[in-house]
Amino acid sequence: MGKENGESIEERTAYHWADETALKIIREKGEKDVYTCAAGITPSGTVHIGNFREIMSVDLVVRALRDQGRKVRFIYSWDDYDVFRKIPTNMPKQEELARYLRFPITMVPDPWERDESYARHHEVDVETMMPVVGIYPEYLYQAERYRASVYAGGIRRALEKREELRNILDRYRDEEHKIQGPWWPVSVFCQSCGKDETGLDGWDGEWGLSYHCDACGQGGTVDIRAAKGVKLNWRVDWPMRWEYEKVDFEPAGKDHHSRGGSFDTARHICGEVYGWEPPVTFAYDFIGIKGLGGKISSSSGVVIDLKDVLRVYTPEVVRYLFAGTRPNTEFTISFDLDVIKTYEDYDKTERIAWKMEEAKDEAAYRRERRIYELSRTAVSPEGKTLMPGVMPWQAPFRHLCSLVQIADGDTEKTIAALKKSAGKNAADGPAEEQIPALRERILRAKYWVEHHAPGEFRFSLRPPGERAELPADLALGVRALRDTVAADIEKFPDDKSCAGAIYKAAEEAGLEAKALFTAAYQALIGRDQGPRLAGFLRSIGRERLLQILSAY
Ligand SMILES: [Zn+2]
Repeated sequence: MGKENGESIEERTAYHWADETALKIIREKGEKDVYTCAAGITPSGTVHIGNFREIMSVDLVVRALRDQGRKVRFIYSWDDYDVFRKIPTNMPKQEELARYLRFPITMVPDPWERDESYARHHEVDVETMMPVVGIYPEYLYQAERYRASVYAGGIRRALEKREELRNILDRYRDEEHKIQGPWWPVSVFCQSCGKDETGLDGWDGEWGLSYHCDACGQGGTVDIRAAKGVKLNWRVDWPMRWEYEKVDFEPAGKDHHSRGGSFDTARHICGEVYGWEPPVTFAYDFIGIKGLGGKISSSSGVVIDLKDVLRVYTPEVVRYLFAGTRPNTEFTISFDLDVIKTYEDYDKTERIAWKMEEAKDEAAYRRERRIYELSRTAVSPEGKTLMPGVMPWQAPFRHLCSLVQIADGDTEKTIAALKKSAGKNAADGPAEEQIPALRERILRAKYWVEHHAPGEFRFSLRPPGERAELPADLALGVRALRDTVAADIEKFPDDKSCAGAIYKAAEEAGLEAKALFTAAYQALIGRDQGPRLAGFLRSIGRERLLQILSAY
């Protein structure tokens, strides 16, 4: 076994499921020059975040293999020669799309008129997002490959083994559900009208396949080696391609992994008909979405994809969510207050990984460090994890939510405020190389506050000159706050000393502290509550505080 960074894969295996799977692949498939890891999907609609779990899971295992110095071919199959069976409810131009039912999805026009087809539109949506999260597969387009007769040999094999295939598919079915009547492992898109509403009439024992079309009445004999439109049934197509690509690893959704499910039959077909040992696999579970209120339900047609998740979570935190959860465990992606908790969890893992915070024991440290490594998006030319040269500068998400609002949503002003809050010692502030990642996080804080945060998170500072209607005693309290706290705000070394001064100001004005707090929020943001006052005042800064409070 290879030893990298002084640690063998066996040692790592104890700490992360991706390393565990990588080791299983090496053990079961033996020492190989290249390991082939596969994922794939039919782009028959939006590729939602639940579908994304597959490609992410494979990427994590690919990364684990490459981190051990193994060479990997990572293929992602677009099963775009599938038939357009159903129009998803979130698609525009439903009536127009209905005209293309039963055609291959590559022949359906793009309802947004952006790409060459309906299938391509969904493919492009995914392919443009993958590099953002550090995923670089080799895409295989099945329509193109089938139409180029790449699989002619595999199709002929299926025809030769027609009865065996039928028996395998029937193996898990009770009498009532066994295949009835004549059965073929292939289907043909009509050479005249393009639809798949065809029936097969015979096979000549070599390359000729005859069919008739129920849609247009045409038919004839096609040569499997040359004709466009001959396609294996899904349950046979999948294992045929495992053999064709020599796939060593491919996971599948737990629905495919049920007894007698498509993975189960594919495993038998792969071994018994195509003579290839089936890939190492695992089942991955579903993903829940939380905090979108009534916006998401299966009937509403709202579909959450990776792009939506990336509006709220940075690419590293997205990877962290997947890397930190075993694939066979369901988890939830939150858009509500738990967004803050997720960022806090990530930051803690980061501190542990960089030994800035102690883990509860060595095993916990190793686990957290490995999750952190796998969360990084940057990879070397060989695909190995690249760690940043210095630990990222941590800015708590909750704090950024306040700062970005004080900065009127301006990212650069928010960064300037962060630098300023580091105080006289500029070395305590973010360094140039740490700013790009910070900028990414600020954009998410801004988006979250605007779109998903609970109402109490949102505020805007009063413009100078605008005055809250306050009783005389509270107005006096605000004036005391201005003259004794705001005017000296830059002199407080931390929130605690500033909070002390606020309490003192309340006492001197003869007010309950709570009353002064309410008055301060009213004066600043026109509400009874807001972010913790001391930190809030310090974040706003002297100049702006005095501008707003000059009205008292
Ligand atoms: Zn036809």
